Amino acid sequence: MASVLSCNDLAKTYAEGKLKVEVLRGIDLDIKQAERVAIVGSSGSGKSTLLHILGGLAKPTRGSVTLQQLDFATLSEKKRGDLRNRELGFVYQFHHLLPEFTAQENVAMPLLIRREPHSSAMRTAAELLDRAGLHHRRLHKPGELSGGERQRAAVARALVTKPACVLADEPTGNLDKRTAESVYEIMLELNREFETSLVIVTHDQSLAARMDRQLTIEDGLLVQ
Ligand code: ADP
Ligand code: MG
Repeated sequence: MASVLSCNDLAKTYAEGKLKVEVLRGIDLDIKQAERVAIVGSSGSGKSTLLHILGGLAKPTRGSVTLQQLDFATLSEKKRGDLRNRELGFVYQFHHLLPEFTAQENVAMPLLIRREPHSSAMRTAAELLDRAGLHHRRLHKPGELSGGERQRAAVARALVTKPACVLADEPTGNLDKRTAESVYEIMLELNREFETSLVIVTHDQSLAARMDRQLTIEDGLLVQ
């Protein structure tokens, strides 16, 4: 099966003055189409660092990342940004919705960035919000939504472009269990329907167990 996102011998060292922190020490990972992978690990083990590099948001110290057969390192900043917008969706622990825009405008944003006509972007956004159970909230701004509603809107935004892969970094880290469950349900449902791959960083063992594979970061390496 085709590889969607992969990395080879990925290493990352943060250098703060004389102090060097070797966070990742040679990570190999290969995500196939529609595959769901959980990454677990203690706080500070490098999970967010790995996700940032996989998402093309940070550069590794060593090694390569390939998204849809394209090596990030060979692409210009502009091309990498376009590829990211086309092929990836991101969900973070905090929603990162833009406060001055409505839920619908926030969800439409990735489509507007790729220059889809406004009317069709807004229509697609409304469909995704319906699917996320937020039809009645589409004209509300993030500040008027509950924590769970915001995260469901963030999930809708991540999936609105039908990306090849969603990268989710503790997407329900600050929600209660029941609300977290409702966010997972919609994320997993849309992921399955769009055949989108999913890499999810989570502390939630029961969620991790529902993924196709569970990987742990330990001492800068990934173990099965
Ligand atoms: P996790 O997401 O697993 O909690 P992180 O990837 O956020 O871990 O961080 C891994 C380690 O790298 C931590 O020790 C953190 O302090 C360090 N770190 C993260 N980002 C930076 C940075 N920009 N500069 C220096 N050190 C960093
Ligand atoms: Mg983190």
